[in-house]
Amino acid sequence: MTHPFLDLPPLSAARFASIEDRVARLLGTRQDVVITQGEALLPLEGAIRGAAGPGTTALNVITGPYGQTFGDWLRDCGATVIDVSVPFHTAVTAERIREALAAHPSVDFVSLVHAEAATGNTNPVAEIGAVVREHGALFYLDAVASVGAEPVLPDAWGVDLCVIGAQKAMGGPAGVSAISVSERAWARMAANPRAPRRSYLSLLDWKERWIDGGRRALLHAPAQLEMLALEACLERIEAEGLDAVMARHAAAARATRAGVLALGGGLEPYVHEATEAAPVATTLRTPDGVVASELVARALESDPALPLAAGGGALAKEMIRVNHYGPDATPGAVQSSLAALGAALAERGLDVDLLGARRAAERAWG
Ligand SMILES: *Cc1c(COP(=O)(O)O)cnc(C)c1O
Repeated sequence: MTHPFLDLPPLSAARFASIEDRVARLLGTRQDVVITQGEALLPLEGAIRGAAGPGTTALNVITGPYGQTFGDWLRDCGATVIDVSVPFHTAVTAERIREALAAHPSVDFVSLVHAEAATGNTNPVAEIGAVVREHGALFYLDAVASVGAEPVLPDAWGVDLCVIGAQKAMGGPAGVSAISVSERAWARMAANPRAPRRSYLSLLDWKERWIDGGRRALLHAPAQLEMLALEACLERIEAEGLDAVMARHAAAARATRAGVLALGGGLEPYVHEATEAAPVATTLRTPDGVVASELVARALESDPALPLAAGGGALAKEMIRVNHYGPDATPGAVQSSLAALGAALAERGLDVDLLGARRAAERAWG
C-alpha cells in the first residue's frame, strides 16, 4: 500500500516552476521569484550576504528583533551600518527614513521589516519605498509576517529583495520560503565578489543554474513535502481569494483590539496607534504586577489550542501575543482568546468586563 507522504513521485522542475509562478502572482510581481529550500531565515540571510559587502553603506531599520539580526549580518559582511530604531510600540515613518537618508547620502542599501509578529507593529512600506527609490538605494524587505495579512506589492513599492514565508498569515508550511529579486538586485549580487556561490546561501546559484537555464533542472532535490504543502496553501488562498484572507486578518486585529479595550483589567494594546498595529497579530501589554508569560500559561491551561504566546526574551514579562493568523484569523479564535485572558485576569482579582469584550469584538469584526 502506498503511503500518502512517503511514496511520492519526485517533484518535477515544471511543477516547481509553476509553484514559483503562483507565488509571483500572489505578490503581483514580474520580478524573478525563487522558492528557497529552507525557513525564511535562509533567503533573508542569503539576500544580505549576496547584496552587501565592504563597499556597502546600509540603513537598517529596527522595529523589532529581526531588524537587529539584519544589522548583525550586514556588519558581518563588512558593510557600514546605520541603525534607525523606533520603540516597539510604534512604527517607523517615511519622514524618519527621508531624514536618515539625507543625513547619510552614501546609503546604498535599506533593510526593513514590513510587519513584526514579534512586536505587533507594521510599517508604511509604500511610502518608505518611494523615499528609498528616490534616493536610489537597494530596498530589502522582510514580508514574512505581512504576506497574506495585508498587501505586499514589491513592484508597486520598489522593493528589490522581498522575502516571504508561508507559516504566518498564509497558513502554510514553515520549511520553504520565497524571495522576489529585481534586476538591480541581481546586478548588485553579480558585482559582489563576496556574494556566496556554490553555497546553500547563494541566490546567484539559483539565478545562474535555474532561472537562466530556463528553469529546466533543479539544483538539488527539493523539499518535496514542503513544496506540496506550499502549493496546497496557495491553492487554498486562491480559492478563498487573497482579499478575503487579508480582510479576515484585518478583522481579527480590529476585533482583538476592540475586545481588549472593552475588557479592561489593565490589559492594553501594546502598539499605541491602531494604524500602526499589524493585522497578522495583536500584541498586548499586561498591567503592572502581572507577568505576561504567567497569564498566558494560565490561559493556555484552559485551552492549549489558543493562539496565545508571551513576548520573546525580556518582553515575556510585559507582552502577550495574540497570533490570530492563518487558521486562527477567525471570530472564534479571537473570542476564545479574549475570554481566556479575561478569566485569567479575573482570577487575579482584576476587574474585567467579559460580556462587554465579547460584544465589542463582535461589533468590530463587522
Ligand atoms: C515569523 C517571522 C519570520 C520567520 O521566523 P520564524 O520565527 O522562524 O517563524 C521572519 N521575519 C519576521 C518579521 C517574522 O515575523
